[in-house]
Formats: sequence, structure tokens, C-alpha cells
Amino acid sequence: MANTGNCVAVVVFDGLRPDMMRPETTPNLLRFAAEGTTMRHAHSVFPSETRVCTSSVSTGCHPRRHGLMANAMFHPADPQRMVSTGNGDALRALEQELGQPILLRPGLSDILAEAGRDFAVFSSGTTGQTYLLAPNAHRHSQIVVSGHGPKFCSTAGQAVLARLDPPPPGGTDRAVWIADAWRTQMLPDPPAASVIWLCEPDTSSHYLGLDTEAQRATLRRVDAAFGRLLDDWQAGPMRDALQIIVASDHGHIMVDGYADAGAIFAAAPALAGCHIGGGGIMVPGGERERIVQVAEFLMRQDWIANVFTADIADLPHGSLPRSAVLVDNPRTGHVLYTLRNTNAPGPTGLAGTSLLETGHELQLGAGTHGGLNKGEMSTVLMLGGSLIRRAAASDWAAGLVDIAPTVLDILDLPGASGMDGRVLGEAYHQAVQPIASLSPETWEASGDLYAQRVARVRIGPHVWIESGSRV
Ligand SMILES: [Zn+2]
Repeated sequence: MANTGNCVAVVVFDGLRPDMMRPETTPNLLRFAAEGTTMRHAHSVFPSETRVCTSSVSTGCHPRRHGLMANAMFHPADPQRMVSTGNGDALRALEQELGQPILLRPGLSDILAEAGRDFAVFSSGTTGQTYLLAPNAHRHSQIVVSGHGPKFCSTAGQAVLARLDPPPPGGTDRAVWIADAWRTQMLPDPPAASVIWLCEPDTSSHYLGLDTEAQRATLRRVDAAFGRLLDDWQAGPMRDALQIIVASDHGHIMVDGYADAGAIFAAAPALAGCHIGGGGIMVPGGERERIVQVAEFLMRQDWIANVFTADIADLPHGSLPRSAVLVDNPRTGHVLYTLRNTNAPGPTGLAGTSLLETGHELQLGAGTHGGLNKGEMSTVLMLGGSLIRRAAASDWAAGLVDIAPTVLDILDLPGASGMDGRVLGEAYHQAVQPIASLSPETWEASGDLYAQRVARVRIGPHVWIESGSRV
């Protein structure tokens, strides 16, 4: 795609399910869809947690390669300690302690800097989430504007912030503010690539309830802010040069009960001495027999859905290898699990319910995510602009990992071939179709009392995870 005058903005609506786009709540997202190309089968990554997803947007890779394994992840050098990836200062301190970047693959921020192109991040997400989009922003003199104020902006971002009213405190207000900030400060003369990360409808889904009237009102406000961005884009000088990619990082399903995992684990002899957190269990010394014991214990629990085990010889009957869900990396637990969930419709018709571990502050009816339910793994992915087919849809598999390769391709920069994702060429006017065919892949395992399944889809070397479930 040789057209060096192009630039790209990636707008992420955190936690937006495709089936939450409706005329009465998201008219502007639907307008964008009508004027561009919609990827109808777009997928998140596992675990479907925001910072894991952010790292996949940044690097174009699945967690096995980018190394950000969970929102709360084991310290890479000391699994007795958990690292909260939501805090940007903690991530920077961790990198200094490790002498190693937190992301094991280069992100858009580094790749564009290397190519001498500018890059900006505007995010109302957590400071850790924002950090992962441009860990080296200071060194690259890139603009990072955080909705959490100047302390979490880069030097260049602080200069932008100084021209604006201070960011408001609430999640929804902050998402609207960040969208308006990019529109007024960047759209007239945008950098080669921008990521605009809106923390809605994720925050309202967690705290106002999934698909409640209060939550829909929130989504309406953020959609309106996106509508102002579209209006100014179409009416302004960047109409032809700027291409826009709209995505969500994961969906939400509804909390319908709790499992007291902490108490159950504490009372289980099989888990004695193990380090537990973030949906994973680290076995001391990685001993094979202990790994088997832990996996077998989890498979006997009726509140557990999937169980994945480090790739060892003779996996216990019923468990699947971590590689099935593309998280085989030493930074994650030897055994991973998801919580029991269903495809049953909630009160407003959205399919998907799940247990939640006791100790989280979310109430019954709240939205949750992190697992492999279709409602969590199905994402929004749409493209629009002068290079993009209008009123089109693609049924090829796609997902979060395809955003970075497509951004690089639009900018005519190298780097896409080293990523897990593919260039979404069928969305271009030339409609460049994938060379390989699309093949579904099913991973199944069963033991005496337990069976599970993971559904994936492949195009040549590119793999996406569709869903996982207990059978
Ligand atoms: Zn998220």
C-alpha cells in the first residue's frame, strides 16, 4: 500500500460487544460501519483482559510472544510477587529492576520511532494500560496524553495537556474528554499513527451493570464524542489522508454468581506452596507431578471451566496445553483456569453469564471478562477512510493482533511480517484476499468426569481463538 501521505487513527472502545452497537445507543459507530468495512469475525486474545489486549494491539502478537500474560501477572523474576499491570509507575520500575522491557516484542511506538514517523497515544484507561502503548515515549519524544493527568503524560503530552481543561475525574467523562482532546488537538495535523483508547463502555459495564439503561446512556455519550470526531474528520482537510480503525479489546458477559476460589485453594493440599494469581497457578520448581496434581484438582471443581497446563509430557487426562490458547510463555502460571460460564442470555438478551471469584467488588448483573466465552472473545473491528471499501463486510477471521500489521501496511512501513496478525487487505479498495484458506481448529480433551474444548480458526500461519468451554 504505497501511499506515504496516509496516517492512521486507531479508536478503541474498551469492552464493547459487537451486539451492543444499536441505532439508539451507537448511531455514530453504525454510521462508521456503513461507510467502511466491518470485520464480522473479530477476536480478542486470551486472557481477555485489558492490558493483555492492549499489548496485542501494540505489538500485533499474542501473549505467548509479547509476554504481558495477565492484568495481575507473576513477577517475571520472582513468581512469589504479583505485578499489578494497571499502574504505569509500577511497570516502569519493573523494567528497571528486570533490565528488560515488559513487552518482549516491539510495539507500534518503537517501530514508528525507528522509521522516523510520529506516534501519539490518548488514553482514558489506567496508567499501566497507557504505558503499554508507548513504554519508550519519553525517549522517542512521542505525545502521550493520559486522562489521569500530567504525571502520566509524556513531556510532549504535557504540552498538549496544558492547552486543555483538566481531565475530569469520572470514567465516562474522561473517555469523552480524551476523544474530544484528540479531535481538537491532533486531528487538524495528526501524527502518522495515533491510538485513542476510550475506557468505555468497560467501566460502566463493570459498575453500572451490563447493558442496563444507565450503561446504555454512558455508551450514547461516548458514541456522540466519536460522532464529533467523525464529523470533523469528514469536513476537514484530513478527510482523504486519515484512515480510521475502530476496535474493541474484548466483550463482556454478566456475573451470575461467585466462586470462593481463594478459600478453596487455601484448603487444598494439592496447591500447598503454589503461587496463585491472575487465573494462574505457579508450581514450585515447575515439578511435573505437582503440575498434574494441580490440574487434576482444578478439573474436579464444578466452578471451573477450562484448564490449561504447561506443555509437559503426558498431560493429565482432560487438560489442554497452554499452547492451545497461545499463552505458552514462562511468565505465566504452569496451570491456568477459567471460571464456569454459560451462553445463556441475560435479562436484556445478550448471551453469556459467568461466575466471578469472590473478593472482586463487582455485583451480580455486572459485566465481567477475562475468559474464553464467545461474548468475551468477540470484538468490534471496523475500518474506514479513503483507502477502505465502503458499506462492506469481511467474513475472514480477524482480531486484535491484526491492527498493528494493518497500521504499518497503510503507512507503507515494514514490520508486519514479524507479527502474529495479518494485514486486513480485503478491506482495501483493491480487496486483497488472504492467500490461504480459512480452517477451523478444535482442541478437545476429556477425562473421567471432565471434558473441555477450545475453538480456534486459522488462515495460513495466522491463528485466532474463537472460544473455549467446558463440555
Ligand atoms: Zn478492556
